[in-house]
Amino acid sequence: LIFLQALPKAELHAHLNGSIPIKTILELAQQYSPSTAAQTTEVADTLEKLRSGVVVFNEIDDFFSLMPTIYALTSTPEAVTTVTRAVLQSFLNPTGDGAESPQCTYLELRTTPRATTHMTRERYLTVVLEEVEMYPATQAALIVSVDRRMSDLDLEECVSLAIEMKNRGRRVVGVDVCGDPRRGDMESFTRHLSRVKGAGLGLTVHIAECTENTTEDSLALLSCRPDRLGHATFLSDELKAEHYKPCIEICLSSNLLGKTAASLEAHHIHYYLKNDHPIVICTDDALPFRTSCLGEYSLLLAQPPLGLGLSRGDVARVARMGMDAAFLRPCD
Ligand code: IMP
Repeated sequence: LIFLQALPKAELHAHLNGSIPIKTILELAQQYSPSTAAQTTEVADTLEKLRSGVVVFNEIDDFFSLMPTIYALTSTPEAVTTVTRAVLQSFLNPTGDGAESPQCTYLELRTTPRATTHMTRERYLTVVLEEVEMYPATQAALIVSVDRRMSDLDLEECVSLAIEMKNRGRRVVGVDVCGDPRRGDMESFTRHLSRVKGAGLGLTVHIAECTENTTEDSLALLSCRPDRLGHATFLSDELKAEHYKPCIEICLSSNLLGKTAASLEAHHIHYYLKNDHPIVICTDDALPFRTSCLGEYSLLLAQPPLGLGLSRGDVARVARMGMDAAFLRPCD
């Protein structure tokens, strides 16, 4: 543990609303009054699943069905401030007084700008950025996510917001494509994504996350030359070998619990390690997957079948690759 704690590590794939500490979400729930009986039951069910840590993910919907409750509890600017502060603290300053060592050295947190009855997308992003910018640039930055389910108009707004924020000197360093992998026409996204890199932002995309993702879907995303790829679990061998070598964001626990990887032994990380392809080890959604940066790195070190059985030297090399893949280089 001391070895892993001391290792400089970058967390580059963590979704804000998927990473809220359980304590924080339960506190928010106490102040929340659902407007219908159905909502009351849904919130109670979801919170019980999250609290007990017994979320069974048999299909993708089991993950996405958690989000309406989380979003209901984080629909005001005040709640967004609370959760952003708690998430940043959980990664960078776990006890709040600096007594416990941080989970990671550098965090690129990502979130989807969300308009609610209480705030616009711009306000949402501003509130998140105010918290991110409380930390030095060497420690925290923000990636703006766009969702595969977004309309053309919403996409246009989110990408423009990311670019405007960056141009105003706010700490937005990239754009991500996320959301239900079975939805959306990625060909229609390319027009918007092609603006991202031209504006000096990094681009990362969730790609080939489930078996339903077609080669056309992956090709459309790859045509924008993303700097990093999220998951890339089912990327065909041809595409794996052919394309330039964007860093792969690897989320071991997420893939195992989400059942997109049958076991650690069968995980696609082995292909990338064997082929000396850059990777970064990430948590994805620490709340439902009950994980942490140290937990994910422990999986690299532990002996099979509990872990990959990598040597300390190899784990240090993997950690360095992660630091090198940051959009805002911590040492810049
Ligand atoms: P948010 O962007 O801060 O609201 O974080 C939650 C959102 O991240 C979810 O609604 C999804 O759109 C997205 N997300 C979280 N995990 C995954 C994943 O594994 N695949 C695709 N999208 C994800």
